[in-house]
Amino acid sequence: MTADFFPTYRGRMEYFCLGCGKRYPTDELYYTCPECGGVFLLENLAFDELKQTTGQEWRSIFDARAASKKTALRGIFRFYELMAPVLDEEDIVYLGEGNTPIVESSPSLNAATGLCTAYKNDGQNPSASFKDRGMACGFSYLNALIRKHGWDQILTVCASTGDTSAAAALYASYVGGAIKSVVILPHGKVTPAQLAQPLGSGAIVLEVPGVFDDCMKVVEHLADNYRVALLNSKNAWRILGQESYAFECAQWFDWDLKDKCIFVPIGNAGNITAIMAGFLKLHELGIIHELPRIFGVQSHHADPVYRYYAVDDPKERQYEPVEVTASVAQAAMIGNPVSFPRVRHFAEKFEAIGGKGAFQVLQVTEQQIMDSMIQANMNGHIACTQGGETFAGAKRAKELGLVSDNEMCVLDSTAHQLKFVDFQTMYFDNSFPAEFEVTPDMALANKPELVITPEEKQSLSADEYTRTTAENVVAKLGLEKK
Ligand SMILES: *Cc1c(COP(=O)(O)O)cnc(C)c1O
Ligand SMILES: [Zn+2]
Repeated sequence: MTADFFPTYRGRMEYFCLGCGKRYPTDELYYTCPECGGVFLLENLAFDELKQTTGQEWRSIFDARAASKKTALRGIFRFYELMAPVLDEEDIVYLGEGNTPIVESSPSLNAATGLCTAYKNDGQNPSASFKDRGMACGFSYLNALIRKHGWDQILTVCASTGDTSAAAALYASYVGGAIKSVVILPHGKVTPAQLAQPLGSGAIVLEVPGVFDDCMKVVEHLADNYRVALLNSKNAWRILGQESYAFECAQWFDWDLKDKCIFVPIGNAGNITAIMAGFLKLHELGIIHELPRIFGVQSHHADPVYRYYAVDDPKERQYEPVEVTASVAQAAMIGNPVSFPRVRHFAEKFEAIGGKGAFQVLQVTEQQIMDSMIQANMNGHIACTQGGETFAGAKRAKELGLVSDNEMCVLDSTAHQLKFVDFQTMYFDNSFPAEFEVTPDMALANKPELVITPEEKQSLSADEYTRTTAENVVAKLGLEKK
C-alpha cells in the first residue's frame, strides 16, 4: 500500500448519548441528545474490523503516511481510520493543522526543575491553538453534510474563550460557500490577538457582558431553537479531531509511551477527553502496548474537575460547578465544563487499564502558572499561559511525589505564546489587577530601553547620531574593544 493511497475502509458512525444511552445516526447534525440533553460521543460500529490489521501493520501505515503528499492525509487525517472514517477525500479540509513538534526542554531548564520536560507545541497550528484539530474534523464533516443534503446555507456558531472562535472563523472563511460564521465572545475577556483573529477572518463577532459560561448559555439557546451548527466542544466531531493529539504523541515516541506523563490543562474538558479517548483507541488496536499517564491541570481560580477527583473514594465524589475568578489561563477559565461526563467516562476506562494513578487532576496557583510560563519561555519555549499551567502541574506532581526521575513530562502548550502576550506584559510591568493574585518576580522583568532620546537625535548630525548611539550601547553593555 503506498502512502498516497486514500483509504477505502469506511466505518459506521453513530452518536451515543452519555446521559441516556440513546443512539442516533450521523446523517443529521446533532449537538446534544434531543431526548435528555446529554453529551454525545461518536462511536464507530465497525471499529472491530480494524483489529484484522495488526498493531505493527497500523504503525507502518501511519508512519508511511507521514511522508504523504496528499493533503487529505497530511494533517490529522493521517489517522483517518481512527477518527472519522465516514468522510470522503473531497470533504477533508486541510489548513496545515496537526503534526506539531514535541520539543525537549534544555538541559539547564531541566536542571532547574529536576524534571525531564518537553512541550508539545500545539500553538504551532494554523490559528495558533489546538482548537484547529477539532475544527478541521468538524468542518470536514459539515462539508460532507452540505454535499449530501445540498444545503445552500448554514450558520456556524460558537461561544469562545478566544481560541475556538479564532479557529472556527478561520476554517469557515476557507470553506466559504454555504457556511457563514458567527462567534459569541465575553466582552473584554479575550486577548486583543484572539479578538483580531475572527475579525480578520471576516466572521460576525458578537459580544456579551459576562464570562464564557454566559456566552455558552446563549449559544445553547440558539442551538435548541434554531437551525445552526454549533462548534463548541459539546460537538462530538471536534472531540474526534482532537484525538489526533494523542496519536501524534504516540507516533513521535515511536509508539512507546512507557514512562511518559501527559499534562493537559482543563477548561471545558474537551481536550483531555479527546486525548484519553485517542490513547485508548491506540491501545485497543495494539498500536501501543502501554498507556501513558494523564495529568489534568486546573487553576485554583477555576477548578471543578480538580475538586471532584480530590475526593479519593469514587462513591463519595460529587460534581459541583464553581464560580470562576480571574485567571491568566483564560482559555481554561471555565466553572462548569460541558465535557465533564466524558471525562468521567474515559477516566474510568483509563484507570481500568492503567490502574490508579493512570489519570489524575492537579491544582496549581495563578502565581505558579505565570512564573512557569515566564521561566519556560526564558529557556527557549513558546508556551502560552495554559502551557505555563501544565508546566506548573508537572512541578506540582513532582512535589507530591507523583512522577519519578525516569518519567518524561510532556506538557501541552495549547496555544502560542504570542496569543497571551498581554499576561507577559502585565508580569513585566507589575500591573496585574489584584484579583489575579500574581506578584511578578521583578528579577525576570524585561523591558525595552531607549538608548538615545528623539531630542538628542534632533540636535546631532547623522554621523554624530550614529556614533553617540553606538557609544551609549557600548556603555550599557560594557563592551570591550577588539
Ligand atoms: C480551549 C483551550 C483550552 C481548554 O481546553 P478544553 O478542551 O476546553 O478543556 C486550553 N488552552 C487553550 C489555549 C484553549 O484554547
Ligand atoms: Zn440522552
